[in-house]
Amino acid sequence: MNYLPINIKLKNKTVWVLGAGPVAARKISTLIKAKASIHCCAMQFCEQIKIWEKQGLLQTHQKHLEHIDISLLSEKPHLIVSATSDAKVAHSAFLMAENEGILLNTVDQPELCNYLTPAIVDRSPLMIAISTEGSSPVLARLLKQKIEKLLPFGLQKIVQKAKQLRPYIKKKIKNAQARRAFWEQYFDHDNPLILDETQYQDINSQTVNKLIEQNQFQKGKVYLVGAGPGNPELLTIKALQVMQKADVVLHDQLVPEAILGLVRKDAQLIDVGKSAGNHKTKQQHINEQLVYWAQKGFRVCRLKGGDPFVFGRGGEEIQTLHEHEIAFEIVPGITAAIGCAAYSGIPLTHREHAQSVTFLTGHGQESQDNIDWQFYAKDKQTLVVYMGLIKSPILQEKLITHGKNPHEPVAIIENGTSEKQRVVTGYLSQLSELITQHQIKSPALLVIGEVAQYAAQFNWYNQNNVFLELKTA
Ligand code: SAH
Repeated sequence: MNYLPINIKLKNKTVWVLGAGPVAARKISTLIKAKASIHCCAMQFCEQIKIWEKQGLLQTHQKHLEHIDISLLSEKPHLIVSATSDAKVAHSAFLMAENEGILLNTVDQPELCNYLTPAIVDRSPLMIAISTEGSSPVLARLLKQKIEKLLPFGLQKIVQKAKQLRPYIKKKIKNAQARRAFWEQYFDHDNPLILDETQYQDINSQTVNKLIEQNQFQKGKVYLVGAGPGNPELLTIKALQVMQKADVVLHDQLVPEAILGLVRKDAQLIDVGKSAGNHKTKQQHINEQLVYWAQKGFRVCRLKGGDPFVFGRGGEEIQTLHEHEIAFEIVPGITAAIGCAAYSGIPLTHREHAQSVTFLTGHGQESQDNIDWQFYAKDKQTLVVYMGLIKSPILQEKLITHGKNPHEPVAIIENGTSEKQRVVTGYLSQLSELITQHQIKSPALLVIGEVAQYAAQFNWYNQNNVFLELKTA
């Protein structure tokens, strides 16, 4: 960024315009809107400028512009607009402004400017400025046209109404987050581009009071959001909406940068995956954080990999929220099993090969001798194991000793659905060996069952979905 956009209050402030042709007149018309005290300096003045002078909107000074110095101007200006066609004059005016610390813009010559004027969409008090830092005024103008078309017709009146109401709302709703929530609701948060001015005509403090009563703007809320298996395109629309309105986002380490980049820019991002301590204290810490931010009145997005209720400890989190009487909402996400299976061509169920599918966690299986291995060892079903890398030798051994066919196909999917996805296939008897041999790293999912024979290494990021050779052991 080479220029900082700011809005300058020019009402009754002295502005000099050098030159008095049509270009100068165009610039003057905006300065008149800004209610500046305008002095126009030239030898000859175009018709429009003469009219404005008669209307008392500016003063003219007939002077031969040659070498510009500060003594030429009767009063030190806030701003100078240099619209003269004489290159020498423009140059000396720029040097003078630089020396004197005056803001000067030379029309269409960014190198002779210490400020630039953006293209503006004027629905004052709403003002949208578009600047390309002088690189392409034409592009700025084209964008301006697009935005003009996009904005609702009566926006000016709606903004004026909001301006009137602002002091009242500030007094009525003390909490800043609650106030923001109020205004979002007032402007129809989900559809700000289809605002209809007639809806706002009759709004007064009474109707506003009703709006305040109906809603609990003061209270925070927690959204448990599933971010899907890692590919940003697999986010739900609802997940994206919550990510864009949340004040605070508490996310797991599993959620990749590409997804975090879609969070509202001024939201506070907190990585709770990295917090210190063992598992128990870590979850306790997360629960405390959820309560802390919600009680402050914030909208909290608890962003989790996959689905919040599949091996995501979402159940414990809502229990805590329940105990503290904090409102919450669950936004489901595509769980790793569904995403990874889809992106490696494995149908999780199949008329011939699998009548059921089970999601298992590899965590804590050693101590869980009460696991019904015989049940899992049965034919014609698919087992999908989450967090199964470390315990894969035990898993493999237990299933086989309880009667599972050692030649049952398996697929190991690492970083599923992302451009780094890797799929390795083989037989159950080779499971842990394959993991070591191919140096599979977390996050990875194990699919055990006849359906794993369909695993394919697709290149989903290639438009033609090229089928790559699959390494089968
Ligand atoms: N709630 C998540 C699961 C969290 S447990 C969900 O519904 O998907 C974390 C485990 O999920 C990882 O250890 C891994 O086994 C699996 N996992 C998550 N994302 C994955 C991915 N992109 N590729 C492969 N496995 C993944």
